[in-house]
Amino acid sequence: MTSGGRLNKLARTRQLYTGELFHVSKEALRGGDNRSPLRAAPMRQAHLEAEIFAKLCGGGQWWAHPFGIAAVQTADKSAVVYLDSHTTFRSDDPYPRSAHALDELLPGAEPGLQVNGVVGLRVVGIEGPDLHLTLAGDGCHLILRGTAGTDWAGELDERWRRMEKAGSPPLWNEPQLTAYEQAHIRDYPRVWSAHRGLDWLGSALLRRIAIFHMSSTAYSSRSWIHDDEWIFELDTVRGIKLDHDAFLSSLMDPLWGIPLRIHSQYCSCDPHHRLGHSTYTLQCTYHLAHSDTSGRGGLQLRFRHGPGAYAGGTRSTLQSLGAPAKWLARVLPMSSPDVSSRRDNEGTSRFSREEGRS
Ligand SMILES: [Zn+2]
Repeated sequence: MTSGGRLNKLARTRQLYTGELFHVSKEALRGGDNRSPLRAAPMRQAHLEAEIFAKLCGGGQWWAHPFGIAAVQTADKSAVVYLDSHTTFRSDDPYPRSAHALDELLPGAEPGLQVNGVVGLRVVGIEGPDLHLTLAGDGCHLILRGTAGTDWAGELDERWRRMEKAGSPPLWNEPQLTAYEQAHIRDYPRVWSAHRGLDWLGSALLRRIAIFHMSSTAYSSRSWIHDDEWIFELDTVRGIKLDHDAFLSSLMDPLWGIPLRIHSQYCSCDPHHRLGHSTYTLQCTYHLAHSDTSGRGGLQLRFRHGPGAYAGGTRSTLQSLGAPAKWLARVLPMSSPDVSSRRDNEGTSRFSREEGRS
């Protein structure tokens, strides 16, 4: 294969992990060390990326892409996170993804209690659709890229005024780590240290965000941290083959994946467990740990397979949020009995900026 052909092939594979546009992916690889095409972030950069990913990837709402992140573009000490356009909470009206991200991320103190949002997160600038973020007193850097027309300044200003009115000091413009934040870290040492132990993982997952879209059969993905485990619950609808092996193989790929090993697994894919049209949800559970460490602690993947637990118009909701048609046809086809409803025949894309990306 010519070097150009090889670069094109690598760029297409990189896209499956990052969701970047082809030319961006190709440019990132050009002249780099292709023996490690998706490098790990240094420690503080990993901290920033993991904290942001943890806050953005909770469940309870729908997006065009899993976790509302369409793509991630990374360099050693920076990352650009491409946000989806809108989100929907259950049956509510669409809400801008940028506003939702700020609600989750911006640090604000509840004096004497805790700090909400990401402790130490600082806003360092706005350039068009880009919100530049760092951690107090650090050089790490992450850009949240909103859709065209995102009014970051207005969104920030609104939250600043709301927090001040509520007696909750906003902290994202403070140059140093505030006394509130230092107290928060002191008051919750166990949680703080458990999260720092998972920074490498959160950052590595964020840098491979597209595998939840490209390599997973799940139509619903959500996650949370419990003790020393980062738990992901990935729901595949009955009628679609649950292919967790394809996901695991992308995740643990020796060149592109994360250095993980399977610590323990419980797989219920045995045909004897087939329950026909039962409402029962099967779950295959995998515990994965860093390949260089002994013991457990790291990533828990719950591959769930059953009726559409959050169904009833799910397909049309995802469609209206701009979910790529190819992905929908794969994970939630029209024929899927558990997700169809009257609304599923009416969907038209109201927020379609993402179309054409994948
Ligand atoms: Zn299984």
